[in-house]
Amino acid sequence: MAFSDHAPDPSGYDSAFRMAPGEFDFYYRTITEKRNALPDKVLLGIEADYYEGCEPYLSEWLPKWNFDLIIGSVHYIGDWAFDNPDLIHKWNSVDITGAWRAYFKLLEKLVNTQLFHVAAHLDLPKKFGHRPPDKTIAELVAPVLDAIAGNNMALELNTSGLKRPAREVYPSTQILQMAHERKIPICFASDAHSPNDIGYGFDQAVRAAKDAGYTEAVLFNAGHKTPYPLP
Ligand code: ZN
Ligand code: FE
Repeated sequence: MAFSDHAPDPSGYDSAFRMAPGEFDFYYRTITEKRNALPDKVLLGIEADYYEGCEPYLSEWLPKWNFDLIIGSVHYIGDWAFDNPDLIHKWNSVDITGAWRAYFKLLEKLVNTQLFHVAAHLDLPKKFGHRPPDKTIAELVAPVLDAIAGNNMALELNTSGLKRPAREVYPSTQILQMAHERKIPICFASDAHSPNDIGYGFDQAVRAAKDAGYTEAVLFNAGHKTPYPLP
C-alpha cells in the first residue's frame, strides 16, 4: 500500500486539495515509521501536481525524501480546475477537444521534466463524461505516450473513474492498448480518499489491463520498478 497525498506547495497553488507545508513532516514521519515496520508492505509515495512554473520548487523538493513513488498529475488547464465538481459548468462553455488538447500538452511537459515515476489518471478530462471521439483522443495522447515510454515512466491504472460519470478506469482500454504497444509498464491505484476505497475495482482494472494485452504490472520501491505477473 502506497500513501500518495498531494504534495504541499508553498506558493499556495490549489491549497484546498493538499497538505499544508507544515503538515508534511507528520506525513513523512508517520509513513516512514510504518514503512520501516512493514517493509515491502507500506510505501512512501506522493502525488505531485504539475503546472507551468512548478519545476523550480519540485526539482529541489522531491529528491529530498527518497519517495518510493512519485505520481505526476495535471488537475488544471490554465486557472481552471477542470476535474473539480464545483466547476463542472465550465465544460459547457469550452471546446471539449481544445480542452483535451491543452491538457495533454501540459501532461507532455510533465513527463519531460523527468521528475515523476508514474503518470496519474491519464485521461482525467473524461471524469464527468466530456470527451472527443476516440480517434481524436488517440491522436492527442500519442505524443504523451511516446514521451512516457522515452522517459522510462510507468502508467497508473486508476479505478476512481469507475465511481465517476465516466464509469471507466483511467485510462481507457484504447489508451492502454497504445501504452502496451509502447511497452509502458503499468501499476494499479485506487486513488482512495477513504480506507474503504483501498483496492476498489482492482478486478476490473486487471481485466482492462489484460484486454489491452498486458500480462504483468510493476511494484515500486525507492523509485525502482519490479515486474510481477497479473493474477
Ligand atoms: Zn490526481
Ligand atoms: Fe488525486
